[in-house]
Amino acid sequence: MSKDYEVIVIGAGPAGYHAAIRCSQLGLNTACINKMVDDSGSPVLGGTCLNWGCIPSKALLDASHKYVEASSVFGDIGIQVTGIKADVPKMIERKREVVSQLTKGVEGLFSGNGVKNLPGSGKLLASCQVEYESLAGEKKTLHSDYVILASGSVPVSIPPAPIDGDAIVDSTGALEFQATPKRMGVIGAGVIGLELGSVWSRLGSEVVILEALNEFLPSTDGRVSKDLFRILKKQGLDIRLGTRVIATEVKGKGAKKTVSVTYEKDGEENKIEFDKLIVAVGRRPYTEGLLSPDSGVNLDERGFLFVNDICATDAPNVYAVGDVVRGPQLAHKGMEEGIMVAERIAGKKPLVNYDVVPSVIYTHPEVAWVGKTEEQLKAAGESYNVGSFPYAANGRALAAHENEGFIKILSDAESDRILGVHVLGAQASEIIAQAVISMEFSATAEDLGLIMFAHPSLSEGMHEAALGTAGHAIHMINKRARKG
Ligand code: FAD
Ligand code: AMP
Repeated sequence: MSKDYEVIVIGAGPAGYHAAIRCSQLGLNTACINKMVDDSGSPVLGGTCLNWGCIPSKALLDASHKYVEASSVFGDIGIQVTGIKADVPKMIERKREVVSQLTKGVEGLFSGNGVKNLPGSGKLLASCQVEYESLAGEKKTLHSDYVILASGSVPVSIPPAPIDGDAIVDSTGALEFQATPKRMGVIGAGVIGLELGSVWSRLGSEVVILEALNEFLPSTDGRVSKDLFRILKKQGLDIRLGTRVIATEVKGKGAKKTVSVTYEKDGEENKIEFDKLIVAVGRRPYTEGLLSPDSGVNLDERGFLFVNDICATDAPNVYAVGDVVRGPQLAHKGMEEGIMVAERIAGKKPLVNYDVVPSVIYTHPEVAWVGKTEEQLKAAGESYNVGSFPYAANGRALAAHENEGFIKILSDAESDRILGVHVLGAQASEIIAQAVISMEFSATAEDLGLIMFAHPSLSEGMHEAALGTAGHAIHMINKRARKG
């Protein structure tokens, strides 16, 4: 049977578009089917990440951070400004422009690399056949040698707080408010809840974050989560742990709408009122309409597409990558999976190193980490050294008025290999790349201590923390090399 394409990718989020572009670069005749459309119904590439995730959230985080700096930090560094005002519609408009520039950029990359862009839905049938339904509703069956599924994820909704797209919104709605809500609730103190809570709190909203768990960011290094909790509280985020939302009621109409939230804490029920409520309780794999019953692809017990460590599904020649499969729901994890699968289809044998996936929370200060936390090492009974260096002792951090936070390195007590790095502080998202590179190349803490870092720079904290694991950091008094 003649084939329409050698590879069909379903989904053009970061996982899918990386896979499609790399396949084309490797000489494979590739098409990418993607059903996302914008407000006007026009097809858009880039998936959640570019349209409703990483990029728009960072555009608003950066804009709101600049507003806070201008209104309450500039005075401290000798810049007097008056008449500061947050222009929320302008911020939202600029965010849209950034998104549009990037999504059009992916369109350009598709055409420049020869990826056939097929707007519409894809459904996997048996034997690598795909039913393609265009946005106009026309259906046809496409034949391919390989299929890569990259349908991504969507926000989880919970019965006590149904999304109405107005008073109760998910992360997508929270990126589109045209005015700062006076009182805003957030359900869930995960990464998305903290980032969106920070945006609107910085712009003047009284933000209350309701989190069912008693622990704050339980998978983050203990010292980082303790310090971040204190810092965010000081910034005005009212984070209430052990607080489970059990019901909501939308009252009033139009601009007067409010949401009454009933929550349970310490066995007691209480109510609290908000103008807007953001539900940020996680994301689930999106597989609606993706698989025909005879596709041969199975789901795991949590509803993700089941794949092995090279992202192969149970169906021959069908792979799945990104948020729709196990592992951290992070854009860069899906990108690397997409590239790995493309190269495997082309006969190469790369692997994704799941032990070295960086995570970032874009609060201010930022949090970034890679590898093991101190708590995980303790629980595993491993012996390790700790080196930690505060931003307050870093010349560049002080010069930049960024003295909150620290860089902490955990290294194996015997081999000195770096096991985990945790950064709380300005530009943590950039600094963590050094740790990722070091760990990817199996560096020891001594290796990092022997490398020259530009002075003055925030990165010098990494050098000092590495020296600190052996008890000889220069710009702090080493009481002793701390050993776990
Ligand atoms: P998606 O980006 O979800 O893309 C899937 C695409 O497939 C979509 O376009 C969808 O329409 C399409 N599709 C689905 N089914 C079909 C079908 N049957 N036919 C055709 N097309 C289909 N991650 C980070 O790493 N860093 C961050 O800072 C970050 N911030 C975030 C902030 C927010 C507010 C949110 C919501 C997420 C954030 N994420 C972040 C997560 C990140 O967005 C996801 O991990 C990433 O988008 C997943 O990529 P993906 O390609 O797997 O899926
Ligand atoms: P994440 O999955 O990291 O985005 O985090 C989502 C958070 O939402 C988790 O920490 C959950 O404990 C929290 N959560 C889920 N349901 C509720 C609820 N009904 N009330 C309060 N918090 C919740």
